[in-house]
Amino acid sequence: MKKISIAIDGFSSCGKSTMAKQLAKTLSYIYVDTGAMYRVVALAALRAGVMESGEVDLDRLKECVKNLDINLDANAKAYLNGEDVEGEIRGLEVSNWVSKVSAVGFVRERLLDIQRELGAKKGVVMDGRDIGSVVLPDAELKIFVTADADVRAKRRYDELLKKGEPATYQEVLDNIKMRDHNDVNRAVSPLVQAPDALLLDNSYMTIEEQNTWLLDKVNEACNK
Ligand code: C5P
Repeated sequence: MKKISIAIDGFSSCGKSTMAKQLAKTLSYIYVDTGAMYRVVALAALRAGVMESGEVDLDRLKECVKNLDINLDANAKAYLNGEDVEGEIRGLEVSNWVSKVSAVGFVRERLLDIQRELGAKKGVVMDGRDIGSVVLPDAELKIFVTADADVRAKRRYDELLKKGEPATYQEVLDNIKMRDHNDVNRAVSPLVQAPDALLLDNSYMTIEEQNTWLLDKVNEACNK
């Protein structure tokens, strides 16, 4: 079967990453989690005190981004300057800042180069917010995922509970709504369904139903 590029975009906590990772495994494709890259930048900025005034200090962020070494290994685990930060980037503090950091043009430019390089070969599943619209506009298959905000918050809350992360359901719901708002309304590369992307609303779908739907679309795209 011919190899293609698959772009998976959509709202926060829709299960995009789990879906994309599983799909890449099934197809023996490379998986690239672009959200993890933005989370690593937000973590580095937090550690460097870039947001200590309560706002993002753009001069200090620029300095921070210049010296950044971001890596994702074959299992899509994230590294910051060689340190495994996979656990830390998923916490609520990074989640609260990441959409502000990702709205900054020079942050996006820096990551765009890395993402395009990773996506240059076929046989890739990349997930994020602007993959179908900006990063890989020529992807043969584009999926745009959505689900009701309260369904997403419940899923994310259960995930954090399991990990022992302290958060209330309301905090998680507020964070999801805030990120939706920031992602859709930012000036640079806002979250938008590319005109040729297929819509997947998985609010009331089981994982099996979703997998069947996805593999169907992959087959169609590969046979075009
Ligand atoms: O996918 P995830 O929720 O981990 O992404 C974290 C944040 O990174 C999002 O809320 C969004 O602000 C940002 N992001 C982005 N563009 C991407 C991927 C993620 O702006 N391609």
